[in-house]
Amino acid sequence: MIPNNSANVFQKLEKFKQIRKRQVFCPVARHRVLVSPLTVADDLSLRTMITSPDIYDNELSHLIFDHCEFPDLQTRPKYEQFIDNVSHFDKKILIWGIFDATYDTLGEQELTCPDAKCAEKFKQVIKARELITEDSIKNIWDKEEAFTTHFVEHTLNVSEEDLDRIIFKLTIPTMKKHLDILRMIDAAMLKDNMSKFGTLMSRTEELALITKSINIYFDKNPESQPSELKTAREIHRMIGDYIPLDEIANIIKSFNDEYSKMDPEFKAMIQCPTCGKEFPFKIDMEVALFRSFLGVTP
Ligand SMILES: [Zn+2]
Repeated sequence: MIPNNSANVFQKLEKFKQIRKRQVFCPVARHRVLVSPLTVADDLSLRTMITSPDIYDNELSHLIFDHCEFPDLQTRPKYEQFIDNVSHFDKKILIWGIFDATYDTLGEQELTCPDAKCAEKFKQVIKARELITEDSIKNIWDKEEAFTTHFVEHTLNVSEEDLDRIIFKLTIPTMKKHLDILRMIDAAMLKDNMSKFGTLMSRTEELALITKSINIYFDKNPESQPSELKTAREIHRMIGDYIPLDEIANIIKSFNDEYSKMDPEFKAMIQCPTCGKEFPFKIDMEVALFRSFLGVTP
């Protein structure tokens, strides 16, 4: 029977929307989330928000929240609670789920065979589903303490007369922290990062993102109290102006040793059509989503 009143039509359409939902598991927040696809209206609102990175990220975070249901929670959290308690790692899985539900495919990707003798260039359509494999998430959060208070320390020994050491407290960032850091980047810097590194953030922002606080000890005296930098702006400035790139890499490594096993990896295995070599195609879901809105190809 063909439904003849609009209420009935929308009821039927609601069913269709249910079918498109995806269930994902957040490795750090440790709960299941049902995500629903973006609509044309969502898609448009994101496109028009790409005037600056933080406004975009803010809009994206709201959209993610609006498209999530939490079957494991008794009451739906408020948006502020959501961005304070969902980690940046969980957000990647949520973006993947929304991407898969909305677009199904990443579209045609330009690939190059990594075998130096072959180096065949070819195009292949990659489905979002192919990017999740058994080892995409190596570990889930298994500590008693909440990820929001847990941290590891990295000490930078300077041992100069008037500067003894700098201690970085590193932690898995929340969605809120990601928003705070993107506020430090303007649209021109973002474009630059995208074209140079294929990421939204440079190494400076990457380290600022995972830094909870920085304690600076000016002298060796064990009694001396450190100066502490805690705000996103102070931390970002300190790293950008005073920490050399090789040290930034060392500090990020300390973070990765502790936490990267919970960072989801999106990777599809590709086979070269000419020589048959298999190789991984890796992608940052956030960048993939961003590109699909900007219409930029790598
Ligand atoms: Zn090949």
